[in-house]
Amino acid sequence: MTYNVIQANSLQKHMNLYDQQPYWLMKDGIVASYPSLQQHLQVDVAIMGAGISAALTAWHLRNSGLKVAVFDKKHAGMGSTAASTAFLQYEIDTPLTVLKNLIGEPDAVRSYELCRKAIYDIGDLCKSLKPAFDFHLRPSLQYASFKSHTANLLKEFKLRKKHGFKIEWLENTDVKKTFGFDAPGAIFSADGGEVDAYLLTHALLKNFMDAGHKVYNNTAIVHIEHTRQRVILLTANNLTIKAKKLIIACGYESLHYIPKKIADINSTYAMVSEPMADEFFWHKNSLIWETATPYMYFRAVSENRILIGGRDDPFHHPHISPSAINRKTEMLKKAFLKKMPHIPLVPDFSWAGAFASTKDGLPYIGSIAERPNTFFALGFGGNGITFSIIAAQIIHDLILGKKNADADIFRFNR
Ligand SMILES: Cc1cc2nc3c(=O)[nH]c(=O)nc-3n(C[C@H](O)[C@H](O)[C@H](O)COP(=O)(O)OP(=O)(O)OC[C@H]3O[C@@H](n4cnc5c(N)ncnc54)[C@H](O)[C@@H]3O)c2cc1C
Repeated sequence: MTYNVIQANSLQKHMNLYDQQPYWLMKDGIVASYPSLQQHLQVDVAIMGAGISAALTAWHLRNSGLKVAVFDKKHAGMGSTAASTAFLQYEIDTPLTVLKNLIGEPDAVRSYELCRKAIYDIGDLCKSLKPAFDFHLRPSLQYASFKSHTANLLKEFKLRKKHGFKIEWLENTDVKKTFGFDAPGAIFSADGGEVDAYLLTHALLKNFMDAGHKVYNNTAIVHIEHTRQRVILLTANNLTIKAKKLIIACGYESLHYIPKKIADINSTYAMVSEPMADEFFWHKNSLIWETATPYMYFRAVSENRILIGGRDDPFHHPHISPSAINRKTEMLKKAFLKKMPHIPLVPDFSWAGAFASTKDGLPYIGSIAERPNTFFALGFGGNGITFSIIAAQIIHDLILGKKNADADIFRFNR
């Protein structure tokens, strides 16, 4: 698991504290069960991992005429996907003003445009699922954490405005009037969204299976052999899966399959409050985040709860202690109450998770020379889910031998 699960023997020491499980896992529970693989298998496309990246990629390939199967070493959706706070934003962790200096202005702007498009694509996709899936568009507000951050945020605003993004600049008085808290300045953006990523993963997998494909839980791939024509996977219980193409969608664990270091692994934290009265919610239930590093972000979630996340650490330990999570929860709560002191916020669930971040904030999507017939669908970074949609679209095209004009932006050897 990528999130921290409190150990039974430490429960006593930490009694009376909020539940340390991802909220969605508790709220949604086990949504669907999939069998483990029990015999050798031959497919056109094998997908390793069954999180949101795999589910989106599988769904995009469902009507391709190819026989596709998805394999997870544990349970579908229960990796980072169940822990995700699922802010869907086109603003990646690297501001456009910085990204343009790293990869050039046209590609930087195109990355932002692709992320914006991904939000609307996921909305359309949710509508098209059977049954239709709950998705909400939400505006987002990024406020300057300190007065000294205002000049850079204003530069960011001007550059995005120049490229046609639907944004408004809010002065301190506008932020106060509209959102009820103090901030020296902010960008208010029309394009954002939210979704339950864990439930969506299962909805996508259901539609994928309805199209005649298979999903397997408890089927760990322990060895990968590449021949010129195909890929042969070996599972932990000694079964082989022969595939013409392999897609690796193992979240940050995908880094094991890439010889070059391309990302760092960070720890991130999240908490969900007890339900609140309607009066405590803010303008259009916007997604709110700030310019400080590491940043804090918050949004409204189902059942009238408030979700707060962030305050990342630049490292990851697979077993973050309950007391470390409690400390971070208190930090997040304090940071939130500094902005919204009138809200009687009581934490109910809190958890930690890992995510991979790259130097330029963009994901890596596509192939590496060392692994022929293999594609990586890596939902890295704070925008992992929007990147997963872009990865699914690009990999769909590459597998079907179609040219994708945007694939180069996310290539490995950039
Ligand atoms: C606390 C937290 C908050 C986040 N908030 C946001 C947010 O607000 N917005 C956003 O866009 N993103 C966010 N992210 C990031 C986002 O959750 C991830 O980018 C996304 O869930 C990654 O999905 P995935 O399918 O790539 O990986 P995962 O969900 O981790 O799935 C990978 C799967 O691969 C399986 N696997 C691994 N190795 C093998 C193997 N050898 N054989 C078979 N299966 C294997 C694992 O069991 C796992 O189920 C957040 C992440 C965390 C942890």
